[in-house]
Amino acid sequence: MTRLYAAVDLGGTNTSCALGYEDGRLLCERRDPTYSHEGPDAVLERIASVLKDMASAAGSEPIGLGIGLPGLVDRASGSAVFLPNLATQWRNIPVGEILGSRLGCPVHVLNDVRTATLGELTYGAGTNTGWLVFFSVGTGIGGGVVVDGKLRLGPLGAAGELGHQTILPDGPLCGCGNRGCLETLASGPAIAAEGVRLLRSGLAPHLHELVGGQCEYVTPKEMKEAAEAGDHSVRAALTRAAAYLGIAVSNVIVTLHPELVVIGGGVSALGSILIDTVKATVRERVTMLPADSVRIEQSVLGDKAGLYGAIALAMRNGRV
Ligand SMILES: [Zn+2]
Repeated sequence: MTRLYAAVDLGGTNTSCALGYEDGRLLCERRDPTYSHEGPDAVLERIASVLKDMASAAGSEPIGLGIGLPGLVDRASGSAVFLPNLATQWRNIPVGEILGSRLGCPVHVLNDVRTATLGELTYGAGTNTGWLVFFSVGTGIGGGVVVDGKLRLGPLGAAGELGHQTILPDGPLCGCGNRGCLETLASGPAIAAEGVRLLRSGLAPHLHELVGGQCEYVTPKEMKEAAEAGDHSVRAALTRAAAYLGIAVSNVIVTLHPELVVIGGGVSALGSILIDTVKATVRERVTMLPADSVRIEQSVLGDKAGLYGAIALAMRNGRV
């Protein structure tokens, strides 16, 4: 019989829970607001209760749980060391111990984007790939690096912070304290900020119409529609952000020569306007090795990469 695992993708805004089989089929899944302002005890209790309900509906208990956490984790002890994006900033919370005692199975923790990377490797575009680099482009930009079939985490689990490589030496200030990080140039908020500027400058009539003149509704998705409707300035802004991402991808390609680069996260929904520009930039900038030998693909798992990765994490018994 196929073994059943539990998966959690804990985010600052929403949390997804699922039960799934080792072959990657999800039996059931659910997405709820995290309500992180209520603190870790309430959040973890809610997760445990959702998973217990799922298990009793399935008539089968999961034999392991994988959970992706948005920040620094200690895999050995199963703790959240520091999760800065949650309302109460979790510090040294024994997530594995708390959920393990409620669910009665082993719990394995990992940073959320590294978990999504494991998802891409195990069930996504990276199946049968030994060298893979994952960029998650959303509210922030995270990443993960797989070498010789193994996720490389570094001594603190921080290896793969691809969004915080410097692209513009004197660029905008980043949340991390550096200037000109990729995240300040190609994340969802960075792209939308440029859209708002264009709208206010009278350079984006279609975008203005799409959002009814309301700047707070400008997102990369609306900008894509505006570009397709004929806003050249908006198209140029999207292309510029994609080219910055392309520079970051090129940097990683000449460093590691991966077989595959996967672009995921909410901004990857821009599709060809993003991916084609990244590919063109890589062709232009990667000269030391055959750029065409590296596949660059949009994630097929989308926003479920974290859940799939959590299943993989549980299935591997925490060995990544
Ligand atoms: Zn940064």
